[in-house]
Amino acid sequence: MDANTADCLFCKIVAKEVPATVVRETGTALAFRDINPQAPTHVLVIPKEHHPTAAELAAASPALLADVVTLAAEVAAEDGVDGTGYRVVFNTGPHAGQTVFHVHAHVLGGRGFEWPPG
Ligand code: AMP
Ligand code: ZN
Repeated sequence: MDANTADCLFCKIVAKEVPATVVRETGTALAFRDINPQAPTHVLVIPKEHHPTAAELAAASPALLADVVTLAAEVAAEDGVDGTGYRVVFNTGPHAGQTVFHVHAHVLGGRGFEWPPG
């Protein structure tokens, strides 16, 4: 593990050093419930490999980004929110409220959401 990932909370969740409520896991990606849910379904989907943002993940490994989005859809189906609809959000940078710099898709569902977002 290099210096970039040693202090990363989500790398620690991948390594099972920090507990999480895992809902689904593949060879390349992990889905777990957000500790502070903002909707009845609020799951975070991450690549197991450390990349800070969605754009950096896309540049480094498009297939891995596809794995994350595919797993997000599987989680939505498993939670039964695919029919009513759900939102997938990649917060990127301070104005978007990104606090953990290991890319993660928020999968939100189970209630209606406003647009534009707050
Ligand atoms: P963001 O603000 O987009 O970087 O999202 C980070 C998300 O991680 C927030 O929604 C937090 O509630 C969530 N979070 C922080 N620590 C944990 C944890 N240990 N387990 C699960 N979710 C967490
Ligand atoms: Zn990480």
